[in-house]
Amino acid sequence: MHFKSAAFIQDIHNNDHMIRIGYHISTSGARDLAFDRAASIGCNTMQIFLSNPRSWSVSKASIDEQAAFKTKEKNSNIKPVIAHMPYLPNVASSDNIKRTKSIECLKKTALLCDQLGIEYLVTHLGSHMGAGKSKGIKNAISTINELDCKVCILLENEAGQKNSIGSDLHDMAEILEALSIKNKGFCLDTCHAFAAGYDIREASTAAEIGKILDFDRIKVLHLNDALYDVGSHKDRHENFGMGFIGLDGFRQFFKEKKLLTKPMIMETPGRVDISMEDELNEVKLFLERAIYN
Ligand SMILES: [Zn+2]
Repeated sequence: MHFKSAAFIQDIHNNDHMIRIGYHISTSGARDLAFDRAASIGCNTMQIFLSNPRSWSVSKASIDEQAAFKTKEKNSNIKPVIAHMPYLPNVASSDNIKRTKSIECLKKTALLCDQLGIEYLVTHLGSHMGAGKSKGIKNAISTINELDCKVCILLENEAGQKNSIGSDLHDMAEILEALSIKNKGFCLDTCHAFAAGYDIREASTAAEIGKILDFDRIKVLHLNDALYDVGSHKDRHENFGMGFIGLDGFRQFFKEKKLLTKPMIMETPGRVDISMEDELNEVKLFLERAIYN
């Protein structure tokens, strides 16, 4: 075996760099229950919502709840924990009322992350709603810059639905650069990138993405296949390997080995033929093989 790849494999197998993969997990009942649910299906990372994703309200965490969450995190192998913003806030909005509500929701969610010891908070960049892309980008930057938090804010790329900000990865890089908050990075969604026109089935595309975003700044992957073909601009996820990206497409993507060191979250409909646990094992095996490809 090539010396360099042997060193890489050693690196990826040490505790910091083993393959980290999980699902978006329900917090129904109590936020800390997500750890039990994630562990029961074999996840070693997870993503959660901290509040109802279809509501503006963010309920607080009592001191007891904060302690319970942190204790479970400490005693589990679910690392990192990734929170995802609810759907209603639109950081790019030019509407003052909506923008004020979005800032409030973002601040409350970031505060919760800090109280619960959560490492990453994923946010979309929203929609300019017809005001134009450059206005939307300006709004998004000033909205996120209102934050004062410890949690690392991750900007997620978009599929390119009408008026959305963040499907062009160059825009994403520009926005991240302009953010004055210290702790920041990207969450790269493979389905969204593909829908936006980045054909990750091609051998050169992953490297191209790394050049635009900087691999070190990509902190999390949303490992979703796509229900529609490249450039569809449709945000419709398919189970890993079963969509238009497919296993061969992901094989090409993961030839860029740095991507294998990122925590990966599947936000997919779920297989009907096998359990989540079995699916996770299959995907893990695929990724472990990709180390040697
Ligand atoms: Zn998302």
